[in-house]
Amino acid sequence: MNFQPSPFVAPPEVITTKSRFRNAIGKYRIRRSNACIACGRCIEACPHGVHHIRNHKLAPPDDYLCVGFECKKCVDECPQKALSLDVNPLMEVIGDRRWTPDLLVSTWYMAETGEMPKGGVETETGGSDGGFDKLRFVYKNELPADFNPADFNTSIKLNRKDDGRDEGVIGLPIYGGGMSYGSINLMAIIARARAWKEWNSFTCTGEGGYPEELFPYDDHVITQVATGLFGVREETIQRVRMVEFKYAQGAKPGLGGHLLGDKVTPKVARMREAVPGNPLFSPFPFHSVYSVEDHKKHIDWIKEINPRAMVSVKVSTPSDVDMVAVGSYFAGAHIVHLDGSYGGTGAAPDIAKKNIAMPIEYGIIKVHNFLKDEGIRDAITVIASGGIRTPADVAKAIMLGADGVVIGTSEMVALECIRCSYCESGRGCARGIASTDPELSTMIDVEWATKRLVNMLAAWRTELCRIMARMGMKDIREMVGRTDCLRHLDYE
Ligand code: SF4
Ligand code: SF4
Repeated sequence: MNFQPSPFVAPPEVITTKSRFRNAIGKYRIRRSNACIACGRCIEACPHGVHHIRNHKLAPPDDYLCVGFECKKCVDECPQKALSLDVNPLMEVIGDRRWTPDLLVSTWYMAETGEMPKGGVETETGGSDGGFDKLRFVYKNELPADFNPADFNTSIKLNRKDDGRDEGVIGLPIYGGGMSYGSINLMAIIARARAWKEWNSFTCTGEGGYPEELFPYDDHVITQVATGLFGVREETIQRVRMVEFKYAQGAKPGLGGHLLGDKVTPKVARMREAVPGNPLFSPFPFHSVYSVEDHKKHIDWIKEINPRAMVSVKVSTPSDVDMVAVGSYFAGAHIVHLDGSYGGTGAAPDIAKKNIAMPIEYGIIKVHNFLKDEGIRDAITVIASGGIRTPADVAKAIMLGADGVVIGTSEMVALECIRCSYCESGRGCARGIASTDPELSTMIDVEWATKRLVNMLAAWRTELCRIMARMGMKDIREMVGRTDCLRHLDYE
């Protein structure tokens, strides 16, 4: 495969953005007893700013910044033995095996600081005992002493057809996946659009229509066309630089979409041209597409309506996904978007998420190799999604053969999602993210959410550069298909 560098896109500025809740959740808990005499030794001892003065008084510790037992400096140096350190009991109740408590708190740290955590927490793998959690990097060297992320290029070009359409150069090999107005609230949608604009990348409307609040971000929006055709109009297709056909979702292949009546508020209903309170189904499949020729007609339709837009085709990962990808190439798609089985919000049923589609790591490599064998790998962009949680997952997906990835849940986590899985009900989301309820929606401030997303991606970029540096690479395009940089724990 040819390595083609893309133009460099400068990363946006990181602005520290704290949790919106009074007590941010971290892995460790520092408690200060009444024996404390406020001597301030802990402030001097802590390298991570946990102890500090506020309003001329020793403030309660910001213990979510603590790196835990590998440090213990403040505990050891307190002359009064007034400090104790333990693991936050909340670690036992938040998250799940894929999104472990460690991955949640580390993502929150990245969203606040724009940096990777300084220690004491696992940032790379979850506890699922499968998928990306079973893959490890085979580093070629140590991190160079003069490592500087500015020396690395993480941008990619999405349109590889040289057909006069938009080139789609994005600053990271990442863009935002389809999350509809209805599945998440408008504030989160706007924040996503703003953050991806700062990264010169894309967010996606999902199948929920195109709220007019997104118009200022048109050039960074992907509008989705799926079977329900909710809110799909010629005018919305003409607004954007990329249109995505959703043929299936990895989290629920064969099931289509379902928005419970609870979340169909008058505003959501108006956007989708439906009736408030009525559940909305987006059935599977497109009954107008049963062959590559039908598929081509679909893509030609979009290309005709919008002569500048790229077309992406989102598919799940059935066992013949390699044939599907080749078909999409010959039908004229610029991007084949493979959506594996680990993604989806808490609204996707577990039985579907865990038992239907092929795990994404198998799907990527199958498609990459087949496109190579067919001699067309360099002419189509392969994007992977479905459970990309960390920068390590991004690198693994690319090393398996994807050009880039799509994320969704990680963005919700940056906005302090706790993975409680109540996303589908109207007032279910205690964090106000996956809620269209007018009161809960006000919990998200657009400015705050934008910065959190920008910051998380900044941390991801730095980590991707660190991985490249340790692999002896300078450009993310060099990483594509480098399975020699990975090992699988089951095959050692
Ligand atoms: S254990 Fe270390 S990181 Fe944690 S609060 Fe004490 S000095 Fe700071
Ligand atoms: S916090 Fe909200 S977005 Fe996150 S899983 Fe719970 S309901 Fe869903």
